[in-house]
Amino acid sequence: MSNETFYPLSVPVIRGNESKYVQECLDTEWVSTAGSFVNRLETEFASIVGARHAIACSSGTAALQVALRCAGVCAGEEVIVPTVTFIATANSVSYLGAHPVFVDCDPFYNINVESLRSFLETNTSRREGVTFNKETKRRIAAVVPVHVFGNAVDMDQLVPLCDEFNLAIVEDAAESLGTRYRSGRHSARHSGTIGLLGCFSFNGNKIVTTGGGGMIVTDDDDLASRCRHLTTTAKEDEVRYIHDEIGYNFRLTNLQAAVGVAQLESLSQFLEIKRNNHSVYNRLLDEIPGLDLAATPSYADNNLWMYPVRIDTGLFSMDREELLKALAEHRVQTRPLWQLNHRQSPYSHCMATACPTADRLLAETLCFPCSTNLTDSDVEEIVSRIPR
Ligand SMILES: *Cc1c(COP(=O)(O)O)cnc(C)c1O
Repeated sequence: MSNETFYPLSVPVIRGNESKYVQECLDTEWVSTAGSFVNRLETEFASIVGARHAIACSSGTAALQVALRCAGVCAGEEVIVPTVTFIATANSVSYLGAHPVFVDCDPFYNINVESLRSFLETNTSRREGVTFNKETKRRIAAVVPVHVFGNAVDMDQLVPLCDEFNLAIVEDAAESLGTRYRSGRHSARHSGTIGLLGCFSFNGNKIVTTGGGGMIVTDDDDLASRCRHLTTTAKEDEVRYIHDEIGYNFRLTNLQAAVGVAQLESLSQFLEIKRNNHSVYNRLLDEIPGLDLAATPSYADNNLWMYPVRIDTGLFSMDREELLKALAEHRVQTRPLWQLNHRQSPYSHCMATACPTADRLLAETLCFPCSTNLTDSDVEEIVSRIPR
């Protein structure tokens, strides 16, 4: 057994007011889904990303499920989802009884707008402004662009296409808190605030965490109150327990929100560390032929949440699996992309476009440790353990 320091892929960093705020919940006995930290988290989150409303949820997955339902997705309909994303994106569609249709990715791991365009132009028909899948005859209700690894989706291309086909956009911004467009039609806007609704995650591996949790953001007043209503069991009358829909018990607790409020205080520092470590990796990997940090889109200031490294097996001596194993033996945890969703067993029967870019990126990508507790010398140590 090696006695080298272990470097996990991504761990939370709890060094601010987290324990103070949690203690406050315990001392005042406000531990559950009502309490000032939940409201504070929503207000502060909305202000950071520049959204009119933010609705705290028990997870990012729950946020997606509710947002899709509020965007009008019904059982038996279809939702376009990229094949490169955490399976939760597709699951949130399935929970509503709807069906995902999978699309290839672009070089930034995000939904490939050209593949989507060609799918929509070839495989759908429109009646009275509604888009139907020609083969399944189902209505296509929405598209879920995912800002993968914090890389901003090319919304300048996606939004007009979705408008043309009358498809609602629900952004999966689970990984992209802090990502902001810097040019184009959405310049200065944050990821997650451009579609009808956007969803974030506070899972333990994300840039800020509440242990588990999520957030829906929207500028639409009616959608916001519907989201709030559905996440709190659709209770119409608080006193008499009258419910007007089948809602969910999806509200974040005050204990978790207390952690979240403290984490948000560190967000700008976390973003700075992500940026610094990204540039250290970049400089050090320059010395290793065949390994490079994956390119990021220049139209945005991406949050650089994750550090995907591209392996050129023509220049580097190992493939993805060999490098993963070699680094694991030196106690550096790395991870490939998720298995492509259209090949996961629950989804292998679903419709999918050809996915040549996703296949190539899956084969060539290995994600390196990205926690915000890493210093320059930790990154140097990690890179030094790469076999030459
Ligand atoms: C983390 C994540 C989710 C799900 O969030 P949870 O809070 O873990 O439920 C959804 N989509 C993407 C892309 C994610 O990375």
